Amino acid sequence: HADAAMYCAKDMGRNNFQFFEQGMSSVAERRALLESRLRLAIDNDTLMLAYQPKVNVVTGRITGVEALLRWHDAELGVVSPDELIPVAEDTGLILPIGEWVLRTACRQSKAWYREGHDLLPMAVNLSAIQLNNRNFVTVVRNVLGETHFPPHYLELELTESAIMQNPDHALLILRELRELGVVLSIDDFGTGYSNLSQLKRFPINRLKIDRSFMAGVVSNNQDAAIVKAVVALAHSLNLEIIAEGIETEEQLAFIRQLQGHQYQGYLCSKALPAKELSAFLSTREALET
Ligand code: C2E
Ligand code: MG
Ligand code: MG
Ligand code: MG
Repeated sequence: HADAAMYCAKDMGRNNFQFFEQGMSSVAERRALLESRLRLAIDNDTLMLAYQPKVNVVTGRITGVEALLRWHDAELGVVSPDELIPVAEDTGLILPIGEWVLRTACRQSKAWYREGHDLLPMAVNLSAIQLNNRNFVTVVRNVLGETHFPPHYLELELTESAIMQNPDHALLILRELRELGVVLSIDDFGTGYSNLSQLKRFPINRLKIDRSFMAGVVSNNQDAAIVKAVVALAHSLNLEIIAEGIETEEQLAFIRQLQGHQYQGYLCSKALPAKELSAFLSTREALET
């Protein structure tokens, strides 16, 4: 690609060539910089996790949290997971990062428990690279053992495309994870190429409906129809439903009426650093008693 593009640009004259080359190298340079800063962040242990609550649609109680990567680099500033994860995947750094996320998240849930909160179910996002790594089940088993974390309190979130990259392999891995007792969810459901009839052969417990659908659910009949159809199918397959990206009471009312089970979104809370999440839990507990 790069060679062909440069060749064409060259034909257009010297100035164009320079312009084009500069543009291309800045993308490459940004990635190289991200990679080296990311390696440093791993070595210096400066990656962070934030935790976004999951909420019971009926009772309003917190049912668990999802761990989300946060990175504030001294040189680059805040780097979003959407920029960080692809670099981590291309460089293989997602394997050590993913293991760190898993261990840190399980440890954190135990730490909140020691502070006096109920043990909180913990959800962690998985990359396709992790799923396709031969050691993955061993890593999960070791982290659970080492942190004394009950497997059914751990939820792993995978996208449809991660599963469909190598469906036969994914099926074996997901079965092993289910045998461990881990809960499995499809993340961003509705944005991938697969569908529920393909997915039903996988031992999945929950569907997370992508927030792009929830965004239009009150104003857009098509989004509303899609969400209704997905929820109905999920119910018939005995899958639990989590609605992502709930920002308004209207959206919550919509998903409640469809008998969705849980939601996440700014209406309840954004993802919070561990300390703030603990304070958030305390406030909620005080209101409940
Ligand atoms: P995701 O797993 O689907 O996470 C939900 C994303 O939506 C998060 O963005 C969250 O902050 C955001 N969000 C939650 N509620 C709302 C809302 O009400 N409105 C809006 N507009 N956004 C909301 P974030 O943290 O930037 O993460 C983006 C994606 O990066 C995640 O999507 C996940 O796919 C990936 N990611 C994050 N952490 C990890 C990780 O540790 N490992 C892997 N493999 N991927 C991760
Ligand atoms: Mg997720
Ligand atoms: Mg999602
Ligand atoms: Mg997402």
